Amino acid sequence: MTARKKIAIIGGGITGLAAAYELTLQARKADTPIDIELFEQAPAPGGKIVTKKDDPYLVEGGPDCFIVEKPWALQLIKELDLENELLNTSSGASGTFVFDNNALHRLPEGVMMMVPTKPLPFLASKLISWPGKIRMACDIFIPKKKESGDETLAAFVRRRLGQEALDKMAEPLIGGIHAGNPENMSLLSTFPRFLEMEQDGGSLIVGMLKRQKKMVEMMKKRPPAKGPKKTFFISLKQGLGYLVNELAAIIGQDRIHCNRKISQISRTPEGKWLLAEENHAPTIADALIVTTETYAAAAMLENELPRLADLLKATPYVSSATVSMAFPREAIPHPLDAYGFIVPKIANRRIMAVTWSSIKWEHRAPAGKVLLRAFVGGAQRQELAACGDQETIAMVREELSSIMGISSPPEKSWIYRWPQGMPQYIMGHLERLEAMDAIIEQQQGLYLAGAGYRGIGIPDCINQGRLAAGKAWETIL
Ligand SMILES: Cc1cc2nc3c(=O)[nH]c(=O)nc-3n(C[C@H](O)[C@H](O)[C@H](O)COP(=O)(O)OP(=O)(O)OC[C@H]3O[C@@H](n4cnc5c(N)ncnc54)[C@H](O)[C@@H]3O)c2cc1C
Repeated sequence: MTARKKIAIIGGGITGLAAAYELTLQARKADTPIDIELFEQAPAPGGKIVTKKDDPYLVEGGPDCFIVEKPWALQLIKELDLENELLNTSSGASGTFVFDNNALHRLPEGVMMMVPTKPLPFLASKLISWPGKIRMACDIFIPKKKESGDETLAAFVRRRLGQEALDKMAEPLIGGIHAGNPENMSLLSTFPRFLEMEQDGGSLIVGMLKRQKKMVEMMKKRPPAKGPKKTFFISLKQGLGYLVNELAAIIGQDRIHCNRKISQISRTPEGKWLLAEENHAPTIADALIVTTETYAAAAMLENELPRLADLLKATPYVSSATVSMAFPREAIPHPLDAYGFIVPKIANRRIMAVTWSSIKWEHRAPAGKVLLRAFVGGAQRQELAACGDQETIAMVREELSSIMGISSPPEKSWIYRWPQGMPQYIMGHLERLEAMDAIIEQQQGLYLAGAGYRGIGIPDCINQGRLAAGKAWETIL
C-alpha cells in the first residue's frame, strides 16, 4: 500500500486558508485522500484578518473590505454559499474627504483613483489650486512615454498630473492602499493599469475615460447579473472574520495547527520537505506552500536556499496600527456625509486616514453611536505605530479633535498593531519575483504565495493561494 501524500502549508492567513480550501476541494473531487496540514504560529487562523465582536460593536482590526473588480474573493464567497452575508457600502453617504490646509475637502465627484473624469466638480473643488488644476489638465497634451519599463508611482504622477496631484491625491489615496511611499513604489507591480491607460489613451485622463466607456459597453452586453447589485468595495455583515471561520470549518479544524511556528525548512535525501519546529517532531511533506510574510519565509529557508532567502529579504515591510473609537453621535460636530477622510503626508499630521466605519458599513455600531477607525504609521510615519496604547489613543484623540472637532473622550477604543505587516512592492519587485520563480522551478514541490508577492489585497491573496494549491496538487499526483 502506498503511503498517503502530504501537502503542508505554512501560514494561516487568507492565502494559506484559500490554499488549504482548494486542496480540500481537489481531494474531494478526485476522491483521493491526502493529508493537508496547515501551520500557523498565532493562536488562531486569519493572519491580518481580525474581526472583534464587542457587543454592540463590530470592529475590524485589519482589512475591512475587498474590491469586487478582482473576482476571486467574491467567487469564493459564492462557492461557500455566503452571498447572503455580503454587505455593500451604505447608500446613506458616499465619497471621501481629503484633509488639506486645515480643512476637510470632498474629493471631487468623478475622481477615479486620482484621475479626474468629470470636469465640473473637479473645477469647482477647492482641494487643488488653479495652477494645480491646469497642470493636471495638461495630462491630455503630454505625449505618452515611449520607453517601456517601470518607474515609481511618484515619478509617474509627477510626469502626468503634476506635483500637487501627487501630494494631495495620489500619495494619500493610491500610496495609502499599500501604506507606502510613492517615491519608491514600483508602478508596474502595484498599479500597472495606470501605465496601460497612458499607453491606450495617449494620456491618463483619456485612458481612464476610454476604460470607463469600455466597461459600460461590456456591462450592457452582459446578461444582467443575478442577485443584488454590488458596490465597488464590499464586506461581510458579520465581518471578514466570518470568511476565515467558514473556510476553517470546511478545511477541518484538525488540519489547522495553531500556535505552531515553523523555524526551518529543509529537504530530505528523498527530496521531500522537512518542517522543523521547537517542541514538536518534524513534519515531512511531499509538497509545501509557504504563505507567510516574505521575511518569515526567508528565515525558514535561509539554510536550504540562501539565494532565495536573500531575494525574499529584499521586500521591505512597514508597520501600521488601526485605532477604532466609539462615540455618541452627538459628540461629533460633523455631518458625516462620506465614508471618511484621508490625510496627505504634506499635511504633517499623525494619522494617515480615518474611516467612518459605521457610516460606511451597516451592522458596525448601534443607533445613536458612531464607530470611527484611524490608521496610524505606514511607510512615511512608521515610528507612530509603535507608540504605547495610552500615547496612541491620546494622539488619535488630538487629531480627531483638531480635524473633526471631537472633544469628548471615546466611550470605547480598540487598538490593533501590525508591526512589519504591510509588504512594499518597491522598484525591482518584478525582477525579484522572476528571479525567485527561476529558483523555485528547480525545487519540486515548493510554492510561495501571499501578500508579499503578487498583490496585497484579499482577492489577490485568495487567487495566489488557490493557484499555488493547484500546482501543489499536480505535483503529488
Ligand atoms: C491594517 C490593514 C488593513 C488592510 N486593509 C485591507 C482591506 O481593506 N482590503 C484588502 O483587500 N486588504 C487589506 N489589507 C491587506 C490584506 O489584509 C493582507 O494583505 C492579507 O490579509 C494578507 O494575507 P496573507 O495570508 O498573504 O498574509 P497574513 O495574513 O500576513 O498571513 C501570514 C500568516 O503567516 C503566519 N506565520 C508567519 N511566520 C510563520 C511561521 N514561521 N510559522 C507559522 N506561521 C507563520 C503569520 O502569523 C500569519 O498569520 C490590509 C492590511 C492591513 C495590515
